[in-house]
Amino acid sequence: MTPFWQALIDFLFPPKCLLCGESLGELPDDHPCPLCFSRIKFFSHPRCPRCWLGFGDTPGEDHLCSPCLTEERYFTRARAIGPYEGLMVEAISRFKYQGSSRLAKPLGTLLAEYKDPDFPFSDFELVLCVPLHPHRLRQRGFNQSLLLARRVSRAHSLPLDFTALQRTRHTQPQTQLSGYERHKNIRGAFEVRRPELIAEKQILLIDDVFTTGATVQECAKVLLKAGAKQVDVLTLARAL
Ligand SMILES: [Zn+2]
Ligand SMILES: [Zn+2]
Repeated sequence: MTPFWQALIDFLFPPKCLLCGESLGELPDDHPCPLCFSRIKFFSHPRCPRCWLGFGDTPGEDHLCSPCLTEERYFTRARAIGPYEGLMVEAISRFKYQGSSRLAKPLGTLLAEYKDPDFPFSDFELVLCVPLHPHRLRQRGFNQSLLLARRVSRAHSLPLDFTALQRTRHTQPQTQLSGYERHKNIRGAFEVRRPELIAEKQILLIDDVFTTGATVQECAKVLLKAGAKQVDVLTLARAL
């Protein structure tokens, strides 16, 4: 769109914060407004550098948590913008369950602008998203993880693929299940259909929420088995 038409559209329909509806004035609508931004909680340290689990308010250095020391982890690093609470819960639930696909703009920008010297985007060669089963995709109309991954891929000029990793089994929604049940429910749900696309690649896997990590663990497992070099994970929120 030319700057003239964009200016005319902005004049007739002033951009609003997609999260709360407040007028954004001169700001673009691909960011949360300053008030929404101030309502987002960001993580503090110390944390587990592998799975991003927090150790409360006790000051100290980052260190591996006990599950990461004792259990097999297929992803190398998992990161999230903030805890799954408050504004994040509201925004993600509208995005996913109420069909507000436009929220991919501000939420995707949050992911794309994630800054962490130990997790530079320049490390990655390919962006993937957690796939939805075709049945769920028809119900929802879009894959929220793909919309987020697309914004990350564009912002960092990284190739995006949504064909190599597929969900082959329709699973019960993870939200209703306990930790152990989640692992059992998701086992064998994914398949790498086109291994040549991911072979030897350092992959950034995008999802909306990291709850127990069962889903991204399973994806990372099949990706490594199919020849990926490394899988790292970035999500909007992490359950506490
Ligand atoms: Zn707002
Ligand atoms: Zn950990």
